[in-house]
Amino acid sequence: MNKGGVFIVSGPSGSGKDTVLAELFRNKPDLLFSISSITRAMRPGEREGDKYNFISREKFEDMIKNDELLEHNIFVGNYYGTPRKPVEKAVNEGKDIIIEVDVNGAAQIRQKLPEAVSIFIMPPSFAELKRRLVGRGTESEELIEKRLDSALGEIKRAAEYDYIIVNDSITAAADDIMSVILSSSFKTDRQKNIIDEVLSKC
Ligand code: ADP
Ligand code: 5GP
Repeated sequence: MNKGGVFIVSGPSGSGKDTVLAELFRNKPDLLFSISSITRAMRPGEREGDKYNFISREKFEDMIKNDELLEHNIFVGNYYGTPRKPVEKAVNEGKDIIIEVDVNGAAQIRQKLPEAVSIFIMPPSFAELKRRLVGRGTESEELIEKRLDSALGEIKRAAEYDYIIVNDSITAAADDIMSVILSSSFKTDRQKNIIDEVLSKC
């Protein structure tokens, strides 16, 4: 069996990652999503275990100590991390998995898994990013300012990614991610088994 692909998705808060990924998962239900462990408070509408496991700082620090995380970072005062085991399991079972992380988390994953494919979701403009963050209405004005500050630094690092997808239209951006997933499934490093399989029967 060929190994599954790891797809890192980043982009500034408010660029539309969750919205575009929800559309992608509707079209591709066999795709897996890496559920992050985080210490920030739950937002209205969020559910435990959907996208995040909401845990205490103590529990998070235990996970770091026990080397249970593939990567972790502090974002606007809270810990965010990717549990290692579900990612390893997906790859070994030949399933594709999406890991949504910030730019620091993406850099850590690239070091550990150089074959991972990284995608940056870019807002059409900074003004539109601000409009979306304000329009989402989930953060205070102060937190929105902090997220916009962080967004500047993140956009400056977009060149570290394999692909940049502009989220102008939700459906087009989801289709673009689908194209990246499809084309990367044909990469030679994902097709090693077919070479052995064909040669074994000659
Ligand atoms: P992120 O997950 O990157 O923080 P969200 O998916 O929560 O961003 O999107 C932020 C806000 O922008 C939400 O209110 C969402 O409905 C809106 N949004 C997302 N994509 C688009 C788009 N292509 N056009 C207009 N609004 C969008
Ligand atoms: P939010 O609080 O808006 O859900 O997420 C804030 C930021 O944390 C986003 O940039 C998001 O991509 C990032 N993030 C989500 N999960 C993880 C994770 O497991 N690790 C890291 N490093 N960043 C994450």
